[in-house]
Formats: sequence, C-alpha cells, structure tokens
Amino acid sequence: MGRGVTDRPDVVIVGSGAGGAAAAFALTEAGLRVLLLEAGPRFDPARDYPMTQTDWERRLFPAPPGSRGDILYGDLGALDPADAGLQSYNAVRPRGAPGRVRLATTGYSHVRGVGGSTLHYVGEAQRLHPGSFHLRRDHGAGGDWPLSYDDLAPYYDQAERLIGVAGPAMQTGRPRTAPFPQTAHPLNPAARRLVEAGARLGLPFEANSRAVLSEPMDGRPSCNYCGQCSRGCPLGDKGSADVTFLRQAEATGRLTVLTGAEVTRIETAPGGRIAAVHVVRDGLTARQETPVLVLAAGAVQTPRLLLASAAPDVPEGVANGSGQVGRNFMETLGWLGTALVPGLTDSHKGLPADAVSWAENAPDGVPGAIGGCRYTSSVLESGLSGPASYASRLVPGHGAAFQARLRAVFGSAVTVGAIGAVLPDARSRVTLHAERRDANGVPLPVVSSVLTDNSLTLLRHMAARGRALLQEAGGGELLEQVSSWDRFAATHVFGTARMGVDSASSVTDAHGRSHDHGNLWIADASLFPTSGGGEGPSLTIHALALRAAERIAAGG
Ligand SMILES: Cc1cc2nc3c(=O)[nH]c(=O)nc-3n(C[C@H](O)[C@H](O)[C@H](O)COP(=O)(O)OP(=O)(O)OC[C@H]3O[C@@H](n4cnc5c(N)ncnc54)[C@H](O)[C@@H]3O)c2cc1C
Ligand code: SF4
Repeated sequence: MGRGVTDRPDVVIVGSGAGGAAAAFALTEAGLRVLLLEAGPRFDPARDYPMTQTDWERRLFPAPPGSRGDILYGDLGALDPADAGLQSYNAVRPRGAPGRVRLATTGYSHVRGVGGSTLHYVGEAQRLHPGSFHLRRDHGAGGDWPLSYDDLAPYYDQAERLIGVAGPAMQTGRPRTAPFPQTAHPLNPAARRLVEAGARLGLPFEANSRAVLSEPMDGRPSCNYCGQCSRGCPLGDKGSADVTFLRQAEATGRLTVLTGAEVTRIETAPGGRIAAVHVVRDGLTARQETPVLVLAAGAVQTPRLLLASAAPDVPEGVANGSGQVGRNFMETLGWLGTALVPGLTDSHKGLPADAVSWAENAPDGVPGAIGGCRYTSSVLESGLSGPASYASRLVPGHGAAFQARLRAVFGSAVTVGAIGAVLPDARSRVTLHAERRDANGVPLPVVSSVLTDNSLTLLRHMAARGRALLQEAGGGELLEQVSSWDRFAATHVFGTARMGVDSASSVTDAHGRSHDHGNLWIADASLFPTSGGGEGPSLTIHALALRAAERIAAGG
C-alpha cells in the first residue's frame, strides 16, 4: 500500500458534487487545506458535452469513461393492475400488458466526475417548504429534521448568491429576507400556456428559481436558452458545482482535487475517530490520513462506503451504531405527461422547468396523502427539444406522411412534470451485494425502493392534475406518459444516513457530524430525513454543506 496521496491536508472530502464542492468552498475560504478525492474524471465541455456535436440529440450524457457507477437493483415493488392507467407509454411505443414488477429503466441517474450530478442537473434551485422539516411532528409520518427552515435560511441565501440563482420577486411558500440575486428568466411558449391553464384550474404557476444566470456573473455569461441543461451546459452559466464552488475553491490555492480517485475504505482508529481513507488511483492503493473526513459521495455511494468499511471495531459499518446507514432511502416520485397543442409553436425553445406551481407542495397540500407535490413546465426537461425526440416518441409512422406530420407538429408539445414526496419505508434501502464487486473490490450497492400507499395516492393525484392541466392548455390526446408506477428512474435520492437528534435513530447530528465518530461529517443528500414535496435537493445540500463546513472550520 502506498503512502498518502498528498501532504497533510486539514480536511479530506470524498466526492465533488453538490455537497462536497460546497464544503470545499467554505473550508478553503476559511483558510483550511482541503484534499478532494473524486472517483470520476474532470469533464471538458468542448469534448464531453454533446451540445457541441452535430448529432447532439442522439448522444447520451454523461459519456466519458468512468462517469457512471455500477448500481444493482433489488426489490422495486410489485404492480397492481388496478393502477394500470399510470403505465408508461408513448405514441411510438404504445402500452402493452403491464408487467408484474417495477423496473429500473434509467435507474438512478447520476454523474461520477468533478461537479458530480450537478453536471447533469437541470438547475432548479429550490428551498424546501418550511413544513417539510417537521413532517413527523406535524403529520405523524416520515421524519423530523433536527433543524428548521430558519436555521438553514442564511445558508440558502449564501448558496443562492454564490451560484447565481435567478428567481421571481415573490416566491410562494418560502420566506425570504432578500430578493433572489438575479431576475427571473422569461417563460417559454409552453410555460405560458400552463400559466393560463393553471390559473383557471386553481393551480397557479410562477417563474421557477433557477441556478442559471440571467445576467453575467463572475466571468460566467448569461444563458442563451439552448434548453439542454441536463446534457451539460456548454457556456457555464448553469450553476453546476464545477464552475461555481469548485472554481472559487481552487482559486484560493488551498484545494487539491484528485480525479479518478475512488475511496474504497474508511479506517477507524482506537477511540472511535477516523484515521484514514484508502484510495485507489491508477490501479495503486494509497492510505491517506486525515484529521477530518467529510463524506459527500451521494445518497447511494455514501452508505455503500460506510457499510463496506465494516471492521472488527465497527462490525455493522462505519457510523452505523444506529443501524440506520443505508435505510430510509427515498427516490424521486414522478409523473410526466405530454400532449400536442394545435397552433402552439416554438415550445422546444427556452429554459427547462422555467415555470412551477407550488400550490400543492405543502406537506398537507394533497388531500389524502402526506408530503405534497409540485408541477413544472417540463417540455424541455423531458427532452422534447429536437426532431429526433418527436420522431421517436410522439409521431409514429414513416414516409412522406410521417415527414409532413413531424413538420406540422414540431414545436407544439406541452409537457407537465410532477414530483411528489416520498416517505421512508423499511423496504426501501441501500445494501451491499453479497458477491458482486467493482474493479477495486468494493461490494456493489443494491438499491431497493417500493412505492407505499402514500406514494400511490400522490401519484394518482399528480397524474389526474397533470392530465387536467394539459387538457385545459388546449392539449389533445395524451401522447406520452412516464410514471414511477412502473419505472424506477430517480434523479433525486435521499435519506440513507439521515440527520437527527437521537443517536439511536439517526446517523449524524444537526450539523452532519457522525454520532459515532467525532471527526467524520456527512455533507450530501444522504442526510435528508424527509424528501420535501418535490423540490430539487441541490440547494438544500449546498446549504447543509456550507453550514457543516462553518462548524468544522470553527473547530467542530
Ligand atoms: C438529470 C438530472 C436532473 C436533475 N435536476 C435537478 C435540479 O434541477 N435541481 C436539483 O436541485 N437537483 C437536480 N438533480 C439532482 C442533483 O443533481 C443531486 O441531487 C445532487 O447533485 C446530489 O448531490 P450529492 O452531493 O449528494 O451527490 P453527487 O452530486 O452525485 O456527487 C457525489 C460525488 O461523489 C463521487 N463519489 C462517489 N463515490 C465515491 C468514492 N467512493 N470515492 C470518491 N468519489 C466518490 C461521485 O463520483 C460524485 O462526483 C438532478 C439530477 C439529475 C441526474
Ligand atoms: S439553457 Fe442556458 S443553462 Fe441550460 S445549457 Fe443552455 S445555456 Fe446552459
């Protein structure tokens, strides 16, 4: 085994995504020397982002070797035919008989690389609803955060300033002490239709808060509305972690980022402190000692690493005295529906998820279910931005008639996307596979995630409201429906090392510090005790990481 990969860092961070990058920023700003170990590569936008290629629409993201991890799937739940109306289909591949179990189609979408999954993210920058912090206290289900919205608000402010969030003058349901740093983006034609339809249905839409610049900032230009945020932003106006937190942290001269560096084990020392991490890079293993370790590998890889680091003194895994590591996994409960609106043009232009409805996002926002949901204008988010997507999903057929139809309808799609709350369930968790391992010998993670009755109630409601919105917007037949009923396709995952007051039922305290190991901190989506009502999690991850880093820099 080799010696440490760098000299005496004050803090080692594992993972450079939404949480790791924000922690690196705050720690280096505070004068600490940080070593950031990132399993994936550093992306080169000119080479790796498909928007620079003529066949951009056909290219998958992320593409560079090593930019996705191997994940296995366990129990994803059985399908009740009574809900077959929620089955996923499109006009080109109509629905057949429903299967018997949910399938991991795209599975957990994520990125291994400098910036983590924020390279892929759309950039919705949303605070959680204040009520989501007290779900168990107020509604008797889910979990409670050991902190409140007000505790997190200053860190939300800081994160919004740093990444440059553009938003409306007033935002529903989220108290603010200052306006958004940038003015909201203009709405695209599809979103404007949903604003009108939502107003008539009692589901008011407003401009979404977006980590996308409407004015140049810090050498980053404003958005050109190419609409392809989830394919990697070629301009750098999207507030992904690489061009925001990490760029500023590297400018301090106190951050060292090592790419292709997979942490394979956490080593504990007598007395319960963390002694070192074991890192494999270029086929060589090194042991890196550290005074402080921050884990920010995401809600699948963080529990995997903690569980895989079991040793005689920590037989159930590191930081797992509560037995909660890997438990309480929460996925993305989603519904997406698309219809064509005769006469509408240019719906393929603009910014994804530019309009949002928060009307049902409070924990009691949906009758009969706990947790709430929100709706967005999602035509670009769903990828209906070029002719190939229309041809492969919305316009069946071939030959001259097909071409004429494609020309006639291109740019007239409207899509409603809905995301809802997920409550923790004993069956939903991340475990280690008994035999299968990655190239460096670490057991592969197995994600199990089932839909509870609460999820199904929410999903039925989201689908009904989504269909009503499309109809009210002038949409014809529902040409595409994608739903969590039969597909596990998560972009937001949470909960697998949750924070809490009680060390018997949670993994960390209110600052993300392990109850079991005084120099181990967690700063990623694993910490969430509740999922929120469909909000994008990244802004909350940033805020938690900034808050944890402040505490670490102050001496813990
Ligand atoms: C298509 C898509 C759209 C999304 N849209 C939004 C949105 O609009 N708004 C929003 O808020 N969120 C969105 N998200 C979700 C958001 O990207 C994630 O919630 C967020 O990035 C999670 O942050 P994290 O720090 O927990 O993990 P990540 O950002 O995934 O970072 C984890 C990092 O750790 C590294 N790592 C893992 N294991 C190891 C190891 N053993 N050793 C070293 N490094 C390791 C990984 O390579 C990765 O870089 C979207 C996600 C996707 C995929
Ligand atoms: S729409 Fe704007 S933020 Fe999104 S990829 Fe294009 S330029 Fe970047």
